[in-house]
Amino acid sequence: MKEKLAQQFERMRISRKVIEAFKKVPREEFVLPEWKEAAYEDSALPIKAGQTISQPSTVALMIDALELETGMSVLEIGAGSGYNAAVMSKIAKHVYSIERIKELAEFAKKNLKKIGITNVTIINADGKKGYPEKAPYDRIIITAAAEKIPEQLLKQLKDNGVLLMPVGPEHGQELIRARRKGKDYLYEKLGGYVFVPLR
Ligand code: SAH
Repeated sequence: MKEKLAQQFERMRISRKVIEAFKKVPREEFVLPEWKEAAYEDSALPIKAGQTISQPSTVALMIDALELETGMSVLEIGAGSGYNAAVMSKIAKHVYSIERIKELAEFAKKNLKKIGITNVTIINADGKKGYPEKAPYDRIIITAAAEKIPEQLLKQLKDNGVLLMPVGPEHGQELIRARRKGKDYLYEKLGGYVFVPLR
């Protein structure tokens, strides 16, 4: 099943680097026990507090679109299960991931610890303010949707850095890639998705 997903990612032209990172992370360790069997179906699954772990192909497409490279420092908003952070941690130097719901922050920490990942820091806070303590970041990824990219997050991006966020109303959003050029930002639209809302 996992191998089949990896082949699907190849057909989707996901980069080799991202597919290798995907292969290294056991998604079954990030879902609730009752969903283990479904861990390698290409679908979002319920986690705690009414939230979801993203669909594997969405995780792969987003990390690919983020243009993540070895040695980079990453900020994620919406840790959820910790799965997306775990996949990114196989490429990045360090991932800081913020989660608003305490129960989920604990869940993510526990999942990452179980599989021995040490280069991810989970922070229980409101991600709209970012995490100035470790700014600026090479990459920022927001895995929850809002009508607009929070200003504080754009400010915490390094020059030439890339930020990725689903932007739009609750029923459907467009994935936006922002690239910092000095004090300017270039925006690209990367297609439609549906994410849980940023609160
Ligand atoms: N990346 C996750 C899935 C994200 S679901 C994974 O791999 O499992 C989106 C998450 O964003 C939810 O857990 C939700 O609680 C969180 N969230 C929503 N608004 C937030 C905010 N303002 N700050 C931090 N986290 C937030």
